[in-house]
Amino acid sequence: MLKNPHETGGLPARRLLAWYKRCGRTLPWRETADPYRIWISEIMLQQTRVDTVIPYYERFLKQFPDVFALARAPLQDVLKAWENLGYYSRARHLHEAAKIITGRFGGRIPNTLEAIRTLPGIGDYTAGAILSIAFERAVPAVDGNVRRILSRVFAVAKPINDPGEHRHFFELAASLVPKKRASGFNQALMDLGATVCRAKNPDCGACPLASLCLAHHRHLQDRLPVMRKAPAIPRRQSVAAVLRNDKGRLLVVQRPAEGLLASFWKLPGGFLKDHENPEAGLRRLVREELGLSIRVGKKIASVDHAYTHFRVTLHVYEGFLFNGKPAAKRCPNRQWAAAADLKKLPLSKIDRMAAKLI
Ligand code: SF4
Repeated sequence: MLKNPHETGGLPARRLLAWYKRCGRTLPWRETADPYRIWISEIMLQQTRVDTVIPYYERFLKQFPDVFALARAPLQDVLKAWENLGYYSRARHLHEAAKIITGRFGGRIPNTLEAIRTLPGIGDYTAGAILSIAFERAVPAVDGNVRRILSRVFAVAKPINDPGEHRHFFELAASLVPKKRASGFNQALMDLGATVCRAKNPDCGACPLASLCLAHHRHLQDRLPVMRKAPAIPRRQSVAAVLRNDKGRLLVVQRPAEGLLASFWKLPGGFLKDHENPEAGLRRLVREELGLSIRVGKKIASVDHAYTHFRVTLHVYEGFLFNGKPAAKRCPNRQWAAAADLKKLPLSKIDRMAAKLI
């Protein structure tokens, strides 16, 4: 009977490294040893597919070639560079962290766990990835892919998507990382999870860990990892008004500096209350946001979008101003934007979709 790999020395680093050399993915952030570039790539890769990240990564580094350039840039430029990449708090944290790195660390990305974990936007996984890849520190980088591999190789029947179990997988991974070549080891696991030990139909025939994988030997690949059932995702309704001035410019408002899509721009409006009439809700929202009375005209379009924890349908209406000037009541800023201005402002995906439709 196959023994638990823990009893036979953990994961064979040499075999994994040889596989990585042969089959690892060629990625732009692997062609550099610059910790700044590695940091940017790891933040962009959080919750985001590699092929989506590549063009953003390249454009971002052209615009902000080092941590000083990023720290100096206005937040609006950083948000604009992040537009459509999603999870926008990453961009704000990156910008904030760049200021801390230049102010407190002399422009050098911190190379210890204690120091790097003080930066905004850096959790256990990202800290482990940056420290191992940029500085060869022997720390694990455990994301969902790595938890899946560990669950299968060691036949761990704990739900890998339950945050309460993450510590178990983290400690298991920490016991496996070799003292030398942690960078290659961690990246090999990342690639193995992405290309071979996939969630569905793992390619065990091509896997360098097949000879010691308990799931493979016990034919449990399809039953491991265990996943905790995700809660149903609620759907919310939101409304927005297309308000133009006599020059044909569109009224847009900036979102508050905290909360969903913070500091991005959008059309006036917001989320409806449960069972609220859309037209009445839109009048209420515009009054609260800008102190304006409006008449709501016909619906122009509806746009759907999914966030991590909810889905939203945005209904866009024609609006007409009764009187008054827009005041920044529940928004930090507002402006009448010409089409060219609109292109320069950071808009979230759903607001950009709505703007295109009108
Ligand atoms: S042998 Fe199969 S199940 Fe086990 S780690 Fe490799 S790909 Fe995953």
